[in-house]
Amino acid sequence: MSTFQAPKGTYDLIPPSSATYLAVREAIAAPLRNSGYGYIETPGFENVELFARGVGESTDIVTKEMYAFETKGGDRLALRPEGTASTLRAALEANLHKGGNLPVKLWYSGSYYRYERPQKGRYRHFSQVGAEAIGVEDPALDAELIILANHSYRSLGLSDFRILLNSLGDKECRPVYRAALQDFLRGLELDEETRRRIEINPLRVLDDKRESVQEQLIGAPMLRDYLCEACKTYHEQVRELLTAAGVAFEDDPKLVRGLDYYTRTTFEFVHDGLGSQSAVGGGGRYDGLSEMIGGPALPSVGWALGVDRTVLALEAEGITLDLPAATSVYAVPLGEEARRVLFGKVTELRLAGVATDFAYGGKGLKNAMKSANRSGARLALVAGERDLAEGLVQLKDLQSGEQTAVALDAVVDEVRRALA
Ligand code: ATP
Ligand code: MG
Repeated sequence: MSTFQAPKGTYDLIPPSSATYLAVREAIAAPLRNSGYGYIETPGFENVELFARGVGESTDIVTKEMYAFETKGGDRLALRPEGTASTLRAALEANLHKGGNLPVKLWYSGSYYRYERPQKGRYRHFSQVGAEAIGVEDPALDAELIILANHSYRSLGLSDFRILLNSLGDKECRPVYRAALQDFLRGLELDEETRRRIEINPLRVLDDKRESVQEQLIGAPMLRDYLCEACKTYHEQVRELLTAAGVAFEDDPKLVRGLDYYTRTTFEFVHDGLGSQSAVGGGGRYDGLSEMIGGPALPSVGWALGVDRTVLALEAEGITLDLPAATSVYAVPLGEEARRVLFGKVTELRLAGVATDFAYGGKGLKNAMKSANRSGARLALVAGERDLAEGLVQLKDLQSGEQTAVALDAVVDEVRRALA
């Protein structure tokens, strides 16, 4: 070990388990790529104000969890705590919404940073894959995103998860509800901080995880009973589309994503094998966000799925992904001349698209074969002086142990045949 360790709340992805992370990202991305979402990559940091406005001044993310700093040049920046604000900022900046081709559908994958209390499933550096559909109000778009996330999890073999669904109303009906909820909450016995929250972001109080708070919330007014006709119809359509698609969900009238810009559809994917960090992904409609960051009205919907927690969910369900071995062929040279010749063959095989590795460092046969086995390769290519003198190499099947002599200039073809 060196003098240094990974910072608190972070961990390194290292082989072989890192391959699972890549596969999870790929499994989440595949349905998106297949459904008209284009890849977007934005900087790891943004102007701090983008998040203050775009995530919400009253949220935990902004008040407590943000890595904000001032640069040598005096810019106030923050490491990105989430992806939606940046994605929308970038789409507006590039005028993607003006191409006459709405919705703008984008997906991303990357690192996010929150100064949280580290626990299993809660880190200060974590990874998300997200999707945003910008500029269209259509219940089919909300349904599409939920269906795609469901598809991703299913394709990984996950089944012990649930989809929680709610509607948060819109700028017609939510303010009426907000006032009613505030009236109710002001009558409860709550600590100072929560009382402050009632005034700034009362919906968030419904989300309080503490037993003592939840008990008092029995009988609280429910947004469901305050939805206007337009919101009710919209929500009903999302529900019908999901049902028609065979995607099971649970109505959760207490599910809030307590940001001011969230509207109508809101949902969360929770996994039942993860203990308290059970949310593997979440999202919803954010019709007001664009205007809050200085853009035009662009009703939008999106989600972000947590890669770290999805990997934990796989572990919880005992799922090992069936990942192809990284290496197909492992070359083992015996002696200097063999080293030169086999190294050439390795390059040739790689150019031919065969995943190939080489026993570097002049290892003896025994050690080299050990490395060959460890690499997961199906075949070993072994050559010594005598083979080469005859223009041959030995092709060894590492499973059966069977070995055949192959002409040097037929190696690529023979390897391809053996792997087919
Ligand atoms: P939580 O309620 O668990 O704090 P959140 O509402 O803050 O989650 P979102 O902002 O919706 O989470 O992010 C989407 C997903 O990203 C979460 O469902 C989770 O899987 C993942 N995620 C969020 N914060 C963290 C973190 N600190 N460490 C690991 N994964 C995280
Ligand atoms: Mg959080």
